[in-house]
Amino acid sequence: MRGAVIHAPGDVRLETLDDPKILHPTDAVIRTAVTCVCGSDLWPYRGLEPVGDPHPMGHEYVGFVEEVGSEVTSVRPGQFVVGSFATSDGTCANCRNGFPSSCLNVEFMSTCQAERVRIPNAQGTLVATDGHPDRELWPSLLAVSDVMGTGWWAADAAEVRPGSTAVVVGDGAVGLCAVIAAKEQGAERIIVMSRHEPRQRLAREFGATDLVTERGDEGVARIKELTGGIGADSVLECVGTAEAMRQALHAARPGGNVGFVGVPHEVAVDGQELFFSHVGLRGGPAPVRRYLPDLVQRVLAGRIDPGKVFDLTLPLDQIAEGYRAMDERRAIKTLLTP
Ligand SMILES: [Zn+2]
Repeated sequence: MRGAVIHAPGDVRLETLDDPKILHPTDAVIRTAVTCVCGSDLWPYRGLEPVGDPHPMGHEYVGFVEEVGSEVTSVRPGQFVVGSFATSDGTCANCRNGFPSSCLNVEFMSTCQAERVRIPNAQGTLVATDGHPDRELWPSLLAVSDVMGTGWWAADAAEVRPGSTAVVVGDGAVGLCAVIAAKEQGAERIIVMSRHEPRQRLAREFGATDLVTERGDEGVARIKELTGGIGADSVLECVGTAEAMRQALHAARPGGNVGFVGVPHEVAVDGQELFFSHVGLRGGPAPVRRYLPDLVQRVLAGRIDPGKVFDLTLPLDQIAEGYRAMDERRAIKTLLTP
């Protein structure tokens, strides 16, 4: 089969790889329906994380089950399945507490930009749809497996409530999905920090009520202006840089909450500042599997359409261009078709 391999920053190639096999009785192998490039794939691509030895890439997938191990009974060959970038057994204490991305047997996916993928912990990870969903729904179901699930977690962690005011920091795919999540969870006012016109348009479409183009202290001052001088009830931090985290913490009101879901890079939080701010802070890798059944239903019912974040679709063999387009911000997110 063919799959993506990163060799060095800026150098991702489609290569012929061994077909994945069932290695453990808890595994499944799927044939990829669609996959994609994630904003977090850009960290090694840009040389901001070490690449090390050449290795496969990708952690987002939807597809058709081809084979299951002897202990997998929840899905069967032929079914269309959605999963999570973090696999989980569904039975350990952390899974039962609702944090499958901290499963005691967690294995993070890392080989999904390929024609076939081995899924560890298949029993606890995969959710099958009733029948095969229409092809036009595949992008939204794919989004649910990572960016939409992560946006949902941002809103959940920031404790968005009906009637509340939410600020979304970041207008990448996760930030845009966080707008959908804030709206679905009942936020009345959704302020998005964005200065890119196509992304602002999509944010509006997804439910943003206000846009803030200023950054840093000016951006915070603008949010205070829009929130009666005190800041927002909930702030959804979807970037992971020090500047984004600072904006998020300063944009929340005393008693408000920040949900941070951008993987932090060189982020430091000042303990005294946090103490006196009275702001609640929670983040981490999204417990996507907890939300999957609900989010899959919302997509199938036509209630949400997070697949709109894919503004570039390429065949898998043009993967190098898929990465380049996102790196150069010509695309929000690249969809890849095997
Ligand atoms: Zn578990």
